[in-house]
Amino acid sequence: MTASSEPSQARQRVLDRIALACGAAGRDAASASLLAVSKLQTSDKIRALYAAGHRAFGENYVQEAVQKVDELGDLQDIEWHLIGPLQSNKTRDIASRMAWVHSIDRLKIAERLSRQRGDALPALNVCVQVNISGESSKSGVLPPDALELCEAVAALPNIRLRGLMGMPEPGISEFATGQQFMALRDLFSTLQARHPSVDTLSMGMSDDLDIAIACGSTMVRVGTALFGARPSR
Ligand SMILES: *Cc1c(COP(=O)(O)O)cnc(C)c1O
Repeated sequence: MTASSEPSQARQRVLDRIALACGAAGRDAASASLLAVSKLQTSDKIRALYAAGHRAFGENYVQEAVQKVDELGDLQDIEWHLIGPLQSNKTRDIASRMAWVHSIDRLKIAERLSRQRGDALPALNVCVQVNISGESSKSGVLPPDALELCEAVAALPNIRLRGLMGMPEPGISEFATGQQFMALRDLFSTLQARHPSVDTLSMGMSDDLDIAIACGSTMVRVGTALFGARPSR
């Protein structure tokens, strides 16, 4: 039996893992939410997970995200999150379609999203992505610059700053993974002290969500453990 054998079972297994990790950390199970990462998965798989009661879905690639949002427009209350890199010439496609963007790494992108979102829709929820691993290949603002970017983003009219997102370097030890998560958690605590409305620490994926929750994650982004292996792009 593979992890994706049945969407509602796979979802329940991940929710159980979240509850267990929250329990071990002395936290309420509802304090960490599950974002289903559906990148490269079919719309049918999204429909199946939706039918199992799931509402929050994350996509990485703008063109694919646009296509899926439009194709799945009949699903009431579905909540779309962009978690992948966003170029400035693509912000218009995203501004009105998403409920959240987790990958804000420069002010220009947030300014364009704010302008293009307009005030007819509820404010767009955003997280600033922080490069916690320090790898040059990774997107995200560097930790010393993160709070200044957050201040500027929080001041934009049609944007609501919700928190921070980060990804540890793949393939490192659990201990080192935890250290990178803790660094993001520390930054998050500092941000929260300045902006008490900030409530989201987006960190943890299929392989490390338990560590992320131990380190304070409030939203885990999970693909493989819900949908099975992704087809290659
Ligand atoms: C693909 C992806 C995920 C999900 O990864 P899994 O290992 O499949 O759970 C989470 N966050 C981001 C930013 C991703 O690109």
